[in-house]
Amino acid sequence: MSSAVRILRDAPLRQRNTFGVAARAPLLAEVADPAALPELLEAPGFRGCPLLLLGGGSNLLFVGDVEHPVIALSRREVTVVTQAGGGSDATIVRADAGVSWHELVMQTLALGLAGLENLALIPGTVGAAPIQNIGAYGVEVRQFVHAVEAYEPVTGLLQRLDPAACEFGYRDSVFKRQPDRYIVTAVEFALPRAGALMLDYAGLADELLAMGVDAPTPGSVAAAVIAIRRRKLPDPAVLGNAGSFFKNPVVPAALAASLAARHPSLPVFRAADQPALRKLSAAWMIDSCGWKGHRDGDAGIAAAHALVLVNHGGATGQQLLDLARRVAGSVRDRFGVALEPEPRVFGASW
Ligand code: FAD
Ligand code: NAP
Repeated sequence: MSSAVRILRDAPLRQRNTFGVAARAPLLAEVADPAALPELLEAPGFRGCPLLLLGGGSNLLFVGDVEHPVIALSRREVTVVTQAGGGSDATIVRADAGVSWHELVMQTLALGLAGLENLALIPGTVGAAPIQNIGAYGVEVRQFVHAVEAYEPVTGLLQRLDPAACEFGYRDSVFKRQPDRYIVTAVEFALPRAGALMLDYAGLADELLAMGVDAPTPGSVAAAVIAIRRRKLPDPAVLGNAGSFFKNPVVPAALAASLAARHPSLPVFRAADQPALRKLSAAWMIDSCGWKGHRDGDAGIAAAHALVLVNHGGATGQQLLDLARRVAGSVRDRFGVALEPEPRVFGASW
């Protein structure tokens, strides 16, 4: 086996998922060079098996032990591929899958590049960013993805997917819909030197004002986003969580209008690129069912944020899943709206 691969047997996963849930995997391969993937996938225990690609473990829930072999890509290089100029006003930056997402955001800002500032402090890796088309404060990563490099085990080819081939949607992509098809090895981003700042989300402009910023820059917007997130979201190092456990449901405009007529304070937003649909606030619906701060043993809902399922210490994946199902059940009964989990649930179906 290539020296770029380190294989662990009966690997503990508790430190590798931000819920801090105990689970084990039969085999875990840390891969320092994606060129070693073809040989690894022919090795005993890996050949022909469905795989689990693991980044920072901040968007998944383990329900019991993992049966599949696990692969973690560890290379962390960031390179500027082409500078703006020669007809293009964007700089192309390439980052390996193993790079920390937040570190990439800060590195691109330090290079004077704009675009990723609203996505500051999202946990996890670059390799996972395209999987659910990470988004925050009105920006989605798809707006800046130039290409995704991915190894396709079935063909044995390293593919280069342009944004259209990634089929990005709201917290969605071809990678999320076909989780066994690709191993994302690197992502290229096209970043402008200056771009229009997105300050629409409630709280962001106010935060900048409170910081005394009257001419916002990408760097000051990132600082504002970081400050809000540190205040609002539980730190997984202190209280296990995977961020928002539920996606905001996107429903037909007529249903949104009838719900808003019955519940005038329900926040209803336009759904990007889908004029006949509306996005509802899952957090508002969960809160109005009384779940905020609720606790079933060590499984709970964050006191400060109704979308965030938390592990107070010793909750199992099953206990967290049971609570999430009860939350979704009460929203369905009260509003007739189905909530779907945003993280990938391993070991159980939703
Ligand atoms: P993991 O959890 O390790 O994996 C997630 C999924 O991607 C799994 O299905 C996994 O198999 C797959 N995957 C990972 N790497 C690869 C790869 N190289 N190739 C193929 N598949 C792969 N998300 C947002 O969109 N916006 C937010 O604002 C946000 N805020 C968060 C705040 C907190 C406090 C937390 C805990 C989470 C938040 N998240 C948010 C969710 C999460 O951080 C992101 O989805 C992140 O991109 C997950 O990265 P990861 O490396 O931890 O992925
Ligand atoms: P918030 O700003 O209090 O807003 C509540 C909800 O309303 C959000 O879910 C957001 O949808 C929606 N919203 C607010 N203003 C909007 C606008 N102008 N147009 C369209 N939709 C709007 O939310 P928050 O929980 O504090 O999170 C702030 C941002 O960080 C959000 O974008 C959120 O998605 C992101 N975040 C994501 C996670 C995760 O794990 N996925 C965790 C924490 C924060 P959207 O979620 O669709 O943006």
